Amino acid sequence: MSFFIKRVRGTKDVLPPNDKIWSWVESVMKESAAFYGFLNVRTPVIEFTELFKLSSGETSDVVQKEMYTFDDKSGRSISLRPEFTAGVLRAILEDLNNQILPLKLMYFGPCFRYEKPQSGRYREFFQFGIEIFGGNSVNSDIELLFLANYIFKKLGLKNVKLEINAIGCKECHNDYRNLVLDFFNKNLNNLCSVCRARLEKNPLRIFDCKEESCQKICQNAPVTVMNICKECNRDFEEIKNTLTTCGIEYKVNPYIVRGLDYYTKFVFEFIVATQTGNLTVCGGGRYDGLSKFMGGPDLCATGFAIGVERIIEIIKTQKIEISETNSRDLYIACLISEAKIKVTKIISKLREFGIKADINLFEGNVKSQIQFANKAAYKYFLAFGNEEIKNNSCKIKNMSNGEIFEIVSSDDFGDNFIKTCIETVFIYNSVGPGMSS
Ligand code: ATP
Ligand code: MG
Repeated sequence: MSFFIKRVRGTKDVLPPNDKIWSWVESVMKESAAFYGFLNVRTPVIEFTELFKLSSGETSDVVQKEMYTFDDKSGRSISLRPEFTAGVLRAILEDLNNQILPLKLMYFGPCFRYEKPQSGRYREFFQFGIEIFGGNSVNSDIELLFLANYIFKKLGLKNVKLEINAIGCKECHNDYRNLVLDFFNKNLNNLCSVCRARLEKNPLRIFDCKEESCQKICQNAPVTVMNICKECNRDFEEIKNTLTTCGIEYKVNPYIVRGLDYYTKFVFEFIVATQTGNLTVCGGGRYDGLSKFMGGPDLCATGFAIGVERIIEIIKTQKIEISETNSRDLYIACLISEAKIKVTKIISKLREFGIKADINLFEGNVKSQIQFANKAAYKYFLAFGNEEIKNNSCKIKNMSNGEIFEIVSSDDFGDNFIKTCIETVFIYNSVGPGMSS
């Protein structure tokens, strides 16, 4: 239909039944983080462009190529957030006097990057992420790794691999920078034009280049992990020992430097092997320098971000069964208008007891009603009409095995009737909040 306005390239709609996976993934992530003591934050989708230029760095792919930037009506440059960290830190710095440190935060929401759309890469995508502010010990880094690992386990993901790297602090970088500059200058002719420009401003970023020729050169370059100071080395050893002791497998990958400029000391990625190659589902690390760089106080920080779409695609390809959180309990098809008020009252009473009951939203015969209840996966079905009123009783049908429960009402479908319904149908069959279903 050519007159239709279609959705913007690189965006998607999440409609039923797909939202079932989305809601489940969102709740697993948020509940796991809450279980670990993280509090939720919401920050604006728009920020001043300057914020991302400062935090991500002018030479980052995100700032150079991927940001949605526009001037607002008063001529200020505004960008849609390409990631959360800068905005969350900005928000905390603005409200620092009211915050108790260390602070454990989580977020869930959309980000925007003008990238070439493909599987696992969109122009609007969702991130779930974690930030810890004011935690200077490696316990914070370890907390991140444990939480990410916990979330992936809860989601039932298979083939998840953790890769870690030590990229050094400011002091390590001074010496290392010269080593790297020297090396890349010798290989200048084989670097892509973007990386040649990066050499001046931020040579570390070359490790993040996706060009094959540059990646080849990087394989022989001096790596950070071999050139870090005593303190960075001690911290890295502690992280590795803790992971080993707690049975979390990892690999040191000296080529992870992370896409954004602000990382220091410790970085990591969680990667899932798929049929079409490795997919990075989570990236994070420590960024102690960013607060000062943004004009704030010394505030150490560490965090990670998970790409929600990638997780959902993996759940689908790995055929992971999700637990039903949204299934409905009872569909009551009211067949005569005289019974509508009665049925509405029954439904509102059942809902008070945590039973997910619904009335029919369309008029139609019993056959069409039961067909709908079946398609919408209701567990129980009840047709309510003249018979029910005349006999003061009704028949609730179990949709999966056809079993019928006849409930007689002695109080004109009042409280006693509701109580009997719940006892004989729902509790007996373990339906309702807090009961396994
Ligand atoms: P990549 O190297 O894949 O481009 P990145 O380093 O740009 O990733 P981060 O900025 O670390 O990504 O974002 C954290 C996570 O967000 C990534 O690991 C990925 O799962 C997800 N992500 C990043 N960009 C996109 C996108 N355009 N579409 C969907 N998910 C994305
Ligand atoms: Mg990217």
